Amino acid sequence: MFGDYEVRNGHLYISGADTVELAKKYGTPLYVMSEDVVRASCRELKGALDKYYDSCGMITYASKAMCVKEMCRIVACEGLGIDCVSGGELYTAKEAGVPMEKVHYHGNNKTDDEIRFGLDMKVGKFIVDSYEELIKVNKFAGEKGIVQKILIRVTPGVDAHTHDFIKTGQIDSKFGFAIETGAAEEISKKAVTLENVFLSGFHCHIGSQIFEKEPFVETAEIMLDFINDMENKLGMTFTNLVLGGGFGIKYTEDDKPLPYDEILKPVLLYVKERRIKEGKDLIRLGFEPGRSIAGPAGVTLYTVGSVKEIPGIRTYVSVDGGMGDNPRYILYQAKYEFLIAGRADQPKEKIVSVCGKCCESGDMLGENVPLGEVSEGDILAVKATGAYNYSMASNYNRIPRPPVVFVSKGEDRLCVKRESYEDLVKLDI
Ligand SMILES: *Cc1c(COP(=O)(O)O)cnc(C)c1O
Repeated sequence: MFGDYEVRNGHLYISGADTVELAKKYGTPLYVMSEDVVRASCRELKGALDKYYDSCGMITYASKAMCVKEMCRIVACEGLGIDCVSGGELYTAKEAGVPMEKVHYHGNNKTDDEIRFGLDMKVGKFIVDSYEELIKVNKFAGEKGIVQKILIRVTPGVDAHTHDFIKTGQIDSKFGFAIETGAAEEISKKAVTLENVFLSGFHCHIGSQIFEKEPFVETAEIMLDFINDMENKLGMTFTNLVLGGGFGIKYTEDDKPLPYDEILKPVLLYVKERRIKEGKDLIRLGFEPGRSIAGPAGVTLYTVGSVKEIPGIRTYVSVDGGMGDNPRYILYQAKYEFLIAGRADQPKEKIVSVCGKCCESGDMLGENVPLGEVSEGDILAVKATGAYNYSMASNYNRIPRPPVVFVSKGEDRLCVKRESYEDLVKLDI
């Protein structure tokens, strides 16, 4: 699902809601999320698993992409599990009423408190990412008199051709245990000797914003080889394999993502056919998309303040937000599509640079991007901002974080309030 936009009477609508009216009602900056797009994505993902893999598996939403209670509720209502990477995400999922047995607990350096919290919350599986964690999960689980299910995070050594900062499948990574170096085998051998953890399988994640199908098939091949090898060496069977998330989305016209059905079909059929050929039961397969569920569902609305033309250089269009609510440009030079919400059908014959209001020259949302006529008071909309925007937002310059409004079939509802100045000093002593 690649967004749900339309233009009516010149206004940009998202899932039947007029963005100009939303900006008027809630103020700007404003995050708007389409519940309809989130639900459609969840259904497409599950549909692919049903169609090509006998429903034998689970989709977990990587909540770090956008972790607020309402988002957790919606994806859980669609039957998805949730990935958490911190005590805070776990707490949010719990507060949202997500069934804890459907939670996968990630993180390469969980603190002792976080490990105990996860055990107390009875999360379905810990995704163990270090030797120290393995020992501690076993120890704390023993103290609590439980046996914790775990998966071990493995680095398969697949390069998914994406940005360096968001590439995680290769050996040189802070995440996981490499197959190639023998580290993955060593930790697995250790795990099966421990009494209070139960190793039910393996996990990997090769990167983000991936547009090709092949890396997933290649990864599945490497992981199944590894699992067969471990089963032979350890004399046991493993029932779970998580192949990560990372499905690409459309930020601009240059991005050409594949529908879930197409990107998942080859990998699902590969695993299914291989397991049948090997005379084995289907392994329970997991996928854990974050960006592709939350990203296309979101649009951020700003009000234009100043428009500063520097002759022969460029035009700066300043908005009432910036790197505080969307740090992705300053982090990765992420590209977005911009438009004026109230004149969404006007031609984009002007090239401008959209900047925020923070005291930082790098505080940009886009440089040299096409936009039509623009002046003070216009509502500027930025598409595909549902993922890694709200969740990465900060209070830099003591700017309160914007609220989050969900829309469905033309109806809007406030799900996260705008921060107030009082909120900003709440923790100050
Ligand atoms: C970030 C992450 C995901 C989600 O990645 P997306 O690109 O947002 O789909 C899934 N699994 C793990 C382990 C991650 O770190």
